[in-house]
Amino acid sequence: MNPRIDINYDKLKHNANNMVNKYQQHGVHIAAVTKGFCAVPEIAKAIVEAGVKYLADSRVENLIKLKEFPLEKILLRLPMISQAEKVVQYADISLNSEMETMKALNKYAAAQNKLHKIILMIDLGDLREGIFDEKQIDAIFDELKTLKHIQPIGIGTNLTCFGGVIPDEKNLGRLVNLGKYIEENFDVKLEIISGGNSSSIYLVEESRMVQGINQLRLGEAILLGTESAYGKILEDQYQDVFKLVAEIVEIKEKPSVPIGEIGRDAFGNVPTFNDRGVRQRAILAVGKQDFGMHEITPMDKNISILGSSSDHLIVDITDSSEPLKVGDELQFALGYGALMSLMTSEYVYKNIIK
Ligand SMILES: *Cc1c(COP(=O)(O)O)cnc(C)c1O
Repeated sequence: MNPRIDINYDKLKHNANNMVNKYQQHGVHIAAVTKGFCAVPEIAKAIVEAGVKYLADSRVENLIKLKEFPLEKILLRLPMISQAEKVVQYADISLNSEMETMKALNKYAAAQNKLHKIILMIDLGDLREGIFDEKQIDAIFDELKTLKHIQPIGIGTNLTCFGGVIPDEKNLGRLVNLGKYIEENFDVKLEIISGGNSSSIYLVEESRMVQGINQLRLGEAILLGTESAYGKILEDQYQDVFKLVAEIVEIKEKPSVPIGEIGRDAFGNVPTFNDRGVRQRAILAVGKQDFGMHEITPMDKNISILGSSSDHLIVDITDSSEPLKVGDELQFALGYGALMSLMTSEYVYKNIIK
């Protein structure tokens, strides 16, 4: 079925298992982030079998899909107050930064006779979520003591998301020290110091991870085998767990510059062209409605992408490694954005290969 995304179950399991084992030696456990594949349970199973400690997702709808797995589940995006009841129902742990939200969680946890665990988010400078003014921490922990159905079990941070700030000894060191301060002053045990996402792993890879960071929340490193601080490949991970496969619906020789006055393309941009003479072009039945504005890369290095519109992808196959005909399939490697879009597209068949 085309277009489709081929998902290699064993390679995914290897990637997750490899990280679990390696990071264990550095005192770091893994919360595996499932949003990249929309938390499809048949895919999540590989990650659970690999021995990760938690499953984590930014959307409650995805945590609901994961409810049959016996692991504790973490909600990554700050909860919406309007969803607080569901958050308590389907997440064991949530990341938080707002007292009003934690009060709402407390209310529903009381109603459901539950203890809802929270990780308080600290903004170390990336300027997305979290407490920025450390002076507020005292008041927050004082007030948390009055919420009987909320249990603060950790603090965490998120970096390299909005501001592109890279995790290092300095900012993660501040997080660890803050944790010590909280434990000493507020009679709580912080069992989790959550040091970020796939941008933090270079520190582990270089055996430089700050002592005291004991959790990373990892999507990209497991799914794509790359780290996201410097965009490097992880040598002992597979980069081709997920592949886009699309089908050729036209092959024709055409000039490389359009004929006529150039106005706007299908997305309102004025395109420019290099004249490379007549080229062999193929059109594939997949487009921006599926992969969004994100990058995809032909697995055949001798094929290049010329452009795409909502339902069509146009590639130059003049130098392709193999002869191609209409009906043939081409494979593409994916970045995180493309993976998310393709997994979300209802027009793309999800083909799990075991
Ligand atoms: C998505 C997300 C992650 C995982 O990020 P990766 O770069 O895929 O490892 C971690 N933490 C939070 C809060 C997230 O939203």
